[in-house]
Amino acid sequence: MSDEHDGGRPRAPGFHRYALGAFEVVPLHDGVLSADRPAGFVRNASDAEVGEAFAAAGMARDRLTLTFAPLLVHTGRQTVLIDTGLGTAGPAGTGRLAANLAAAGVAPEAVDVVVISHFHSDHIMGLLRADGTPAFPNAEVLVPEGEWAFWMDEARAAAAPDALRGQFAGVRRVFGSGAAPRPYRWGEELLPGMTAVKASGHTPGMSALEIVSGDEAMMFVADITNNPLIFARHPEWQAMFDLDPEDATATRRTLLDRAASDRLRLHFFHAPFPATGFIVRNGAGYEYLPALWA
Ligand SMILES: [Zn+2]
Repeated sequence: MSDEHDGGRPRAPGFHRYALGAFEVVPLHDGVLSADRPAGFVRNASDAEVGEAFAAAGMARDRLTLTFAPLLVHTGRQTVLIDTGLGTAGPAGTGRLAANLAAAGVAPEAVDVVVISHFHSDHIMGLLRADGTPAFPNAEVLVPEGEWAFWMDEARAAAAPDALRGQFAGVRRVFGSGAAPRPYRWGEELLPGMTAVKASGHTPGMSALEIVSGDEAMMFVADITNNPLIFARHPEWQAMFDLDPEDATATRRTLLDRAASDRLRLHFFHAPFPATGFIVRNGAGYEYLPALWA
């Protein structure tokens, strides 16, 4: 399968565009991973229960289909990319960010700032081209200070269990040479209209980004859920990817509850494209309502 064609037909461009106050917000499709759902995908629910939940959400019972959706924000002053997808390091069907940025009319050189939510490979590997050079040569790269402290710690990397070794290596591949990125803190306004929000648990330093223009607001919530069609309904479920499951659950509850109260638009990195929607309360959990493509 070539990069631009799928079964002989050109691929549809994968981007969406909407206004948020004076900002223009552009969800971008990096692709989809589709695989058999790994056993033990949810630590504190049986595979049969999880299969039921997948079926109830209209998905195949035993397949894990996961979207990767970085977000571009044109503020009028700056072009800001939040997370970068898998670059050329991911499995087939991913790494579409560069093509979809081009389809949206944005050259890599035009990106002024890249904000990283956390250091998992599907969020950072797109910082590099295949030859290891920066994919966004003019961009300042901002990273959560808690992520930098955790993943760049050499003693922790040396002692990492097998399951995390690849992640530590990937972080070093991206950040081990070249200009050091600028660390940011939760609560810090990174640029006018974009503030970092504590979202720890999935990884120790993960950050959400609250984006405000005029009287409109939204939040990029990174990986507070895997697919929100499952984990909004079951906020207590602990996905196998969460490094601190208790903290991840508390973060999920806090931010989903706030979104429900404030009717806040959310962008989930792993929601079905265009990965934006709203949260309502439903029993002991929540329901994810995809925003209309308008
Ligand atoms: Zn992710």
